[in-house]
Amino acid sequence: VPFDQLDGQIWYNGAFVPWAEAKVHVLTHGLHYASAVFEGERAYGGEIFKLREHTDRLIESGRILGFEIPYDADTIDAACSELLRRQGFSDAYVRPIAWRGSESMGVSAQKNTINLAIAIWQWPSYFDPEQRMKGIRLDLAEYRRPDPRTAPSRAKAAGLYMICTISKHAAEAKGYADALMLDWRGRVAEATGANVFFVKDGVLHTPDPDCFLDGITRRTVIDLAKRRGYEVQVRAIMPEELEGFTECFLCGTAAEVTPVAEIGPYRFVPGDITRRLVEDYAAEVQPKRLAAE
Ligand code: PMP
Repeated sequence: VPFDQLDGQIWYNGAFVPWAEAKVHVLTHGLHYASAVFEGERAYGGEIFKLREHTDRLIESGRILGFEIPYDADTIDAACSELLRRQGFSDAYVRPIAWRGSESMGVSAQKNTINLAIAIWQWPSYFDPEQRMKGIRLDLAEYRRPDPRTAPSRAKAAGLYMICTISKHAAEAKGYADALMLDWRGRVAEATGANVFFVKDGVLHTPDPDCFLDGITRRTVIDLAKRRGYEVQVRAIMPEELEGFTECFLCGTAAEVTPVAEIGPYRFVPGDITRRLVEDYAAEVQPKRLAAE
């Protein structure tokens, strides 16, 4: 079944509509000029993990692109939760997206409506589950994350994913699961849909997200690592350093914590620190229900 023909409902500008009927016109500004921002969230045990943080980031991403989403955070949160309930999933992936509509065509779209839709589907594993615990293989991408003076890099904006899809497709064509992207200065940045961590001598190292998405999972993993008593260094990492790291993993809402075995010519072995963080993250995302419930 094609993805746009699934059963169920989509929340679309305030109403629950049948999945296959949640359409846009071909002259939608968001499609032509990438005036679209979105989120990726996961529900575990019927609750969306860090929902408010995602909703706040969605609203902020819209503001960075110069528009105000016409629903407040409480309304968006309630819509996500109600849609999850209607879809009947306990564990699922949640995709809100906001975009400029089709009332006028051209770069300027001051009067176009701002639309919001939310879809929820089951997406158990972002990477091949068989490969996942052995560690996935990454290529080195040709495109680099842009200078923040060149693109609104703090927004989770659709336009920023153009080079991610190109890079991921190029990596997949060579048999890799994903690609590691450098930034405009040549520093290690992130994968095409997840942040990256390295381990050396018991210390975690991750790049400073000054020109790419500061993932909510990244921040969660830093907290979990500190709770374990690990040191976490947030710093500039040059690709030449990859040779010296022993462990590597990606993290993101969809990817969760995914061990990495290879990046181009470099090899890593998922070790104790990666394994503990995979487990700690899995425990952390479970809803914390009161013992009395
Ligand atoms: N970087 C990119 C490019 C992403 O698409 C994602 C996934 N949203 C992340 C990082 C991780 O962000 P988060 O942990 O908030 O999902």
